[in-house]
Amino acid sequence: MDKYEILKKYFGYDAFRDAQETLIDQILEGRDTLGIMPTGAGKSLCYQIPALMLDGITLVISPLISLMKDQVGSLNQAGIHAAYLNSSLTAGQYYKALGFAREGRYPIIYVAPERLLTGEFMDFALNSRIAMVAVDEAHCVSQWGQDFRPSYLKITEFIERLPKRPIVSAFTATATKEVRDDMIDILMLRDPMVLTTGFDRGNLYFGVMSVKDRYGAIRNYLEMHRGESGIIYCLTRKHVEDVCARLIRDGFPVTRYHAGLSDAERRKNQDDFIYDRAPVIVATSAFGMGIDKSNVRYVLHYGMPKNIESYYQEAGRAGRDGEPAECILYYSGQDVITNQLFIDHNQDNQELDAATRALVTERDRERLRRMTFYCFTNECLRDYILKYFGEYGSNYCGNCSNCLTQFEETDVTEIARALIDCVESSRQRYGTTVIVDTVRGANTAKIQNYRMNENPRYGALKEIPVYRIRQVLNFLQMQEYLAVTADEYAIVKLTAKSGEAFQEGPIVMKLAKEAQRPPKEQSKSGKSKKAQPGRESFTEKEESLFEKLRAVRTEIAKREQVPPYIVFSDRTLIHMCIVKPTTKQEMLNVSGVGEFKYNKYGESFLMCVKEETEG
Ligand code: ADP
Ligand code: ZN
Repeated sequence: MDKYEILKKYFGYDAFRDAQETLIDQILEGRDTLGIMPTGAGKSLCYQIPALMLDGITLVISPLISLMKDQVGSLNQAGIHAAYLNSSLTAGQYYKALGFAREGRYPIIYVAPERLLTGEFMDFALNSRIAMVAVDEAHCVSQWGQDFRPSYLKITEFIERLPKRPIVSAFTATATKEVRDDMIDILMLRDPMVLTTGFDRGNLYFGVMSVKDRYGAIRNYLEMHRGESGIIYCLTRKHVEDVCARLIRDGFPVTRYHAGLSDAERRKNQDDFIYDRAPVIVATSAFGMGIDKSNVRYVLHYGMPKNIESYYQEAGRAGRDGEPAECILYYSGQDVITNQLFIDHNQDNQELDAATRALVTERDRERLRRMTFYCFTNECLRDYILKYFGEYGSNYCGNCSNCLTQFEETDVTEIARALIDCVESSRQRYGTTVIVDTVRGANTAKIQNYRMNENPRYGALKEIPVYRIRQVLNFLQMQEYLAVTADEYAIVKLTAKSGEAFQEGPIVMKLAKEAQRPPKEQSKSGKSKKAQPGRESFTEKEESLFEKLRAVRTEIAKREQVPPYIVFSDRTLIHMCIVKPTTKQEMLNVSGVGEFKYNKYGESFLMCVKEETEG
């Protein structure tokens, strides 16, 4: 079978995405490859399809048990023999799987990095033909990454011990240069083909909301999105407990996840979420690595994460199936303080020497500042994120809260000058609070101590609301008229550009006319990137068909003991509603319906479509 036949027969897709085809071709030619693609881009197919074509076994190194289980479950459902070898198996199960592996039953075997150099596994590897080692989540080899795993360093030793060097392919969604160089060096990739695709996730809507009653806002959101699956991230365990308890009290099917729960409860809650028994999960950032659930329709942040990397990773768990999904951050000023505390009390860097630790802390503060600007910027949010990762956007995506909000230009020259002047005349010695309190003429102990009440700009902006002064101060930082030091004192400093504020020409800032984004229907029509019609254009009948198909899927998932999205993704069900297949051939034309799955449960879906469309 060639790669196209495999794609159609097992995975049910008609075409490769560009990057996939390039990577697959290179691997088939025997070349090492490094694929850097955002979540949902379809990395797994890049090694799974060659695995079925290469002469020998493909070992997939994966950091997490849940991830392996999910992937192997998917492959088995598609009719492909695959297994995993990790500590979740009993000794009996492990030897049985290894026995089958020796017999050559599995073209694909997922293995935890800790296993590689163990006696039994090494013995199996030395006596089998290993065609490829595919390293999933390859950024785990890098100490610069967020998820460094020392056991990943064993991979090279393992490869070196093999009689014939296999092809080595590596995949990740982490894009920074340090991490990329580490992956190539540490995994000792030979003349690798490095392919980085754009990081934009066109199907994701990005929004920032600054509301007084965050809980109320989130409850309303869930109310409007009943039946959909979502993740609500909170900064602290306490917030998780709190938000989860209130949502349960308000009648929502939610569960919770944080590092303070017992292993058993965490596992149960995670499963409830994955199997859609509790379609919404409230969690700290401890949740999510290895969660491949493709039908997550929204990721809400009750609080601002510590940096853009974390935010994009967490938000990126929405819409992996490519269908529209929403990522909304509910911001409050308190979040900055909470994150500052996390940085100041970070215990992860104990083994570093003092100088390095100071450097890391400084970098963390700078990242936090860039995250904070995300909550204040008036520019396209997608653009802001892409720029952060070194890419260029289009300035207007039409699918974020800023692109969809009407702004009016406001002259803030006077406020800007007062602030800059105040910084200068107090000789750049104070933090933001003192500066703001001075210009608004506050009478606090600090102001008295520092004698800022004698500053020429004291009270200069007493008519202006504080939030506006803060907005402008943030804006001045973003525009580099002012800078704030990255140490714990956060002192406001002048920049090379400060003087420009006093030359001719007003300083203009865009301010939102209305805080609310337009209703959902309107915003959806603004989504320019999606060519295919989706659920938003469903008729009432199609909507009802979708619900019926979902019910069929739930039944089958129960029987097969896999999560519903592994039976068919939401995207496949949506496509089914649009195509309304009535024959086997038509059903096989639906994206995501492969032959094996058709034979297993295609009939049930076909019947359901027939009943609904004829009845
Ligand atoms: P990643 O590991 O990069 O986050 P996955 O491998 O989980 O992404 O793929 C994301 C989704 O895209 C899955 O539902 C997968 O079945 C689907 N997918 C992958 N390749 C294709 C393709 N060529 N055509 C259509 N859907 C695809
Ligand atoms: Zn935008």
